[in-house]
This record gives sequence, structure tokens and C-alpha cells, in this order.
Amino acid sequence: MKTTENFGVKVFNKEKMKEKLPYPIYLKWKDAQRVEKDLDKESADAIAHAMKDWAIANGATHFAHWFQPLNGHTAKKYVAFLDRTVDGDPIERFSGKELIKGEPDASSFPSGGMRSTFEARGYTYWDLTANSFIIGNVLYIPTIFMSYYGEKLDKRGPLLDSCNILSDVGRDIVNLFSDTHAYRMRVKVGLEQEFFLVDKKLYDKRSDLINIGRTLVGAPSPKGQEFEDRYFGQIPKRVEEFYKDVDKRLWELGIYSKTEHNENAPLQFELASIFENANVAIDDNLLCMNILKEEALKHGMVCLLHEKPFDGVNGSGKHNNYSITTNYGLNCFEPGEDPYNNNVFLLFTAAIIKVCHKYQTLLRLCSSSPSNDYRLGGLEAPPAIISVFLGSDLEDLFNAIRDDEEYSNDSKSKFRAYSLKDIPLDTSDRNRTSAMSFTGNKFEFRMLGSSKNASDINICLNTAMAEVLGEMKDILMPYKDDKINLRKKVLEIVKDVMKKHGDIVYSGDNYSKEWKEEAIKRGLKNHKNYLEALLDAKNLDLKKIFIDSNIFTSNELRALYEISCKEIINYNLLEVKTLLSMLTKDICQSLQSELRDIEEILKFTENKELKKIYDTINNCLSDLYNKYFDLKLSYEHAVKIENLEDKAKFTQNDLHEKVLDIREVSDKVEVLISRKNLNLPTYEDMFNSL
Ligand code: ADP
Ligand code: MG
Repeated sequence: MKTTENFGVKVFNKEKMKEKLPYPIYLKWKDAQRVEKDLDKESADAIAHAMKDWAIANGATHFAHWFQPLNGHTAKKYVAFLDRTVDGDPIERFSGKELIKGEPDASSFPSGGMRSTFEARGYTYWDLTANSFIIGNVLYIPTIFMSYYGEKLDKRGPLLDSCNILSDVGRDIVNLFSDTHAYRMRVKVGLEQEFFLVDKKLYDKRSDLINIGRTLVGAPSPKGQEFEDRYFGQIPKRVEEFYKDVDKRLWELGIYSKTEHNENAPLQFELASIFENANVAIDDNLLCMNILKEEALKHGMVCLLHEKPFDGVNGSGKHNNYSITTNYGLNCFEPGEDPYNNNVFLLFTAAIIKVCHKYQTLLRLCSSSPSNDYRLGGLEAPPAIISVFLGSDLEDLFNAIRDDEEYSNDSKSKFRAYSLKDIPLDTSDRNRTSAMSFTGNKFEFRMLGSSKNASDINICLNTAMAEVLGEMKDILMPYKDDKINLRKKVLEIVKDVMKKHGDIVYSGDNYSKEWKEEAIKRGLKNHKNYLEALLDAKNLDLKKIFIDSNIFTSNELRALYEISCKEIINYNLLEVKTLLSMLTKDICQSLQSELRDIEEILKFTENKELKKIYDTINNCLSDLYNKYFDLKLSYEHAVKIENLEDKAKFTQNDLHEKVLDIREVSDKVEVLISRKNLNLPTYEDMFNSL
């Protein structure tokens, strides 16, 4: 069957709207989608009716308002189309009102204390810029989620708002320079999803994988990723079959999954989809994560989205490719053949530089999570220091503007390679080590963790871009009819950005020690972990970026802070609980069995070396039990800490240290235990299981 044949059969997209709706209603939906006019009741009813008919014809019996609560996951409640008429007969119904607004009980979703249970009402509102789709027998309707008082309780609301404010200011800037009038701007996002697959039978034996998705103990496998033989290598047969099924489901949902390959680490893979409008790309990615998990199970595997399931090999990220285009498709990050004279490109790129420098802490925060802390700053994914990579040619150009140097024309020809994106001029063009890299006509942000909802980082980028472009607009507007001075002002703006924020631009190897030292000299932030970034964010003035722009109220920001603290606490406590249970149930049991076996042998022989091993294992066993009791006490203490921030600090610093400490002992002794006495599948077992 042709790939395109079933493409989008399960999604109620623009084409279906056009096909199934009376044309005037379709136009009203388009107007509403452009945020130009609210949808009236009659149109909503007509759309709901068409959606219902289509959904029922495709096997749906229920609908669900689908939303992203503040924990970044997805939530839904199924409602049957089935209803009863006044005559007592069954009928399938779905009204415009039901399409547009839902009323789930909001009390069980995180609200950071914004909503108490007695006022637990929350509302979901249809996001008519996103597509509804069918999974199984349910029609899913993407919605935003708010409290009774209008507080934002989800990720989609702020994301859409941030796209809109960026659209307004971006459009005004582009229109200063372009003859084609732009009506609105679109934020385009392309997400590359990394993940691990592990054999289900082995997974089932490890409660760390079951509870956290990460191994808390495990000595390195004799063979890790040191041969670099996996990247783009032969995909195992079982995984190939799995990819086929994943693609089938994604394509049916109208999701353009495009590239699939092995990643560097054993068991690690990637799936990338073609870029879309930001909210759609994020919906698609959330669906993709779910589908990866479901399809893996069907093939006897488990998909791990944790950033660092295995120590000693690479972790997983989710690259966020970002660009801003006009409604007629002009990409503001497209340098073209003559970037020096491309005002829009210069301004938008300067804006990214300023955003990354000014809001380092926020970007670090929005891409992080307790689980991503294991990955950032390792010798793999981008370090925890934010930098911007432009490529040497563009860096020369921006530096020349900074230094008022004449920009030489002969280097211009070089830029042709950028418009023919596939022919990189020099290898540094593919620098893989910086957090934010220019890759031809987009910026690729590499810090985001594989398990994260990509909304936070895009809300942050959009809002910060809107703020910075807004300042540029204020400077430029008075010269809108004076082309010569307008150009002068553009160069002044770029120069000013490079002088004040150019320290964030770096083309070297971000993994190197020299860069860490250099970054300190440049005064760049290096937050060791999520909590540090969170505490530092309290010192930032967020009024302009979030409050003045109506993206978040101060109350909502406080709630987000609280939710993040709780996330850190819950994550670390879960690791501790899991490790405590593994110590008594698995790890110490293995050691005891081994000791018993050796004791038997030592009855017959005076083997000194064996006795040495016996003593080592025995000492480790005492050590582990000691550490077990100590960790248990600390856990009990942690649970009782009332102040949220103190609790987060204690779990992140003290508890976490102890968990790592136990791992060290456990991994050291693991290599001395015979295969038969090991209760947990080893790294070697798992790495070779697919
Ligand atoms: P790589 O990172 O390996 O170089 P690609 O160049 O294929 O990968 O692109 C990675 C992702 O970037 C894909 O999701 C792709 O659709 C997306 N992408 C490409 N162009 C743009 C753009 N202009 N804006 C946003 N995303 C883009
Ligand atoms: Mg990439």
C-alpha cells in the first residue's frame, strides 16, 4: 500500500473540514482559527455535527476533551455520544457546546495551590487551531484547560498566547522591510525524539525501570558504546517491525514521522517528524511518545523516555528545531545569499542571541527536569551552559557588524551553501555540542529532555522573542518611511546586541574543559541542576516577559514554581523508595546467596583469594545495610520537612547523594557475583537483548 493512502485517515484536519462543512461555515472556522472572530453557536453546532458523523463512521463511540495539565502529561475524560431522547429512545448526539467547552473536575490536577477543592471547577475549551483525531473508539478534541476564575491550568493556553504575541510583533517588523504584507507569523517547531527500547522480560525484573524508567544500580557492560558502531547502524529486526507499526499509526493520525535510526548508545533510537506549527508539533510529539510506548509493548519491548536509563552511555534528548515564518512562508532565519543585507534575518537572529543571553536561566529551567539532570552536563548532550552556535561565516558577519568593520563581499559567495542547505561549507557548520545551534534556516535547541513536554521551552522562546523584538520594533518604527536610516538602525541594533550579549556566541567544542573556564570568564550561568536553575529564576525579573505580556499572572508563576519544587521532591523520593526496596529484595539477597555459596566451597579448600573475595562481598553487604538504614532515616526525615523549598533542597542534595553513594558500592560488588546469584538483569543482559 502507498504511504499516502492511509495518511491522515484518523484526523479531522483542514481538508476534512473543507470537505464535510458547508463552505460558509468552513470560512467562519478559518476566521476563528486566525483569532479574528469568535465562532458563533450555529457554526459550532455544524462543525460538531460533521465531526460526530465522521467519527462515528470511523468507529468512534465516545469523545474526549484532551488537555495537558501542568505536569506536562496528557489528560482526558471519555464521554459517550450516546444520549436519550425525550421519548426515551437512544440517540447519538454531539453539540457545538460540547465541542467548545467541557467541565472536568479540576481538583485532581496539579494547580500549585491556585485552586482549592471547594472551587474545583475547571473548564476545557476547544483549541480550534489543532486537529481532532480518533484513537481506538474515541474522538480526541485538543483543548486548553482553565480554572473557574480563568487561571491557566495547562501548557497549551500559554503556548497559544505566546505564539500570538510573537506573531503580532514579528509581523510588524517583517512588514517594515517587505513589499508583501504579512498578516501573521507562525512558529514552526520540528521535534526529534530519542528513546530507549528494552526487552520486556528483563524490564519486568527491575523495579527501578518499572518505577522510574532508569536503572539505579548496574555495573557497566563489558561493551558499551565505545566502538561507536551503533549510530545509523543496522536496526535490529524486532525494532524494524516496531518502527513499521509506529509509522502506520502516526501516518494515520496525519503525523509526518520522517526519519528513524539507531542512536549512539546501546538500545537507543530516534524518531523525527517534519516540523509543524508549534502547538501541533507538540500535540504530535505527545501522541508519538504514547504510541512508541504502546507499540513497543506489542513487540515485547518497553520504550523508556527517561533521559538517562543507563549510566555510562549517552542519554536521550528531544531536539527542538525552531523557526518563525510569515503566513506566506518567509522564514525569518533564512539567511539567503546575502545575509548582511537581509534585515529580517539580522534582526531575528540578533533577537535569538539576546534571548539566549538574557534568559539563560529560564531556558535551562524550561528544558529541564529532575530526570534530565542526569543527562545535561555529561560528556554528551549539550552541557548545562547555554551557548549559541552560528557557524564561522555568520559569526564573522555578526562580529564585523559589532566592530563596525567593513563586511567583505568576497565572503558573501560562501553563503550560497546555506541556501543549498545540504552542502555544508565547513564541518563546524554541524557543531553538535552547543545548546542552541544555527542549522541553515532554523535554530536547534538541544537541551530539552526526551521525557519533557516541549511546551515550556517554546512558551519561553516565544515570549522572550516577542519581548526582544518588541524593543527592536520601538526603535525602528519612527524610521519606517526612511529606508536609509531604517537600515542604519538595524545595524545599530545588531551591534548593540553583539556588544551586550555576544558573549553567548561560541563556536568551539562545548564539551571541553576550556569552554567551562571560558564561560565562567564570560559570566555565563552554569546551573548544576534543575533545582539550582529554579532557585536562581526567583531572582529574575519576570514581570516584563511574562506578566506584562499576559502570558502568566504572578499567581500562576508562583504556582509553577511550587509545582516544580514538588516535581523535584516526588522524583527524588521515588528514587529513594525504589532503591530501599531493591536493596532488601534484590541486591542484598544476591550478595547473601553468593556468600552462602562461597562458604560451602571454603569448607573444602583454604583458597586465600576466594576468601578475599568473600571478605570483600561481606564488607560490601555490611556497608550496604548500613547505608540502607541511614537512607531510610533520611527518607523519613525528608518526608517530614514542611517547607517546600527546604524539602526540595534536602531531597536534591542530601538524599540524592546517598542514592549515588549506594550505587557505587553496589556496582563495585556486582562484578564479583556469579551469574546464577544475580537477581537483576545486568547491563550486559539488557544491552544485548534486542
Ligand atoms: P538534523 O538535526 O539531524 O540535522 P534535520 O535537518 O533533518 O535533522 O531536521 C531536524 C528537524 O528539524 C525535523 O523535525 C525537521 O522537520 C525540522 N525542521 C526543518 N526545517 C525547519 C524549520 N524551518 N523550522 C523548524 N523545524 C524545521
Ligand atoms: Mg538534531
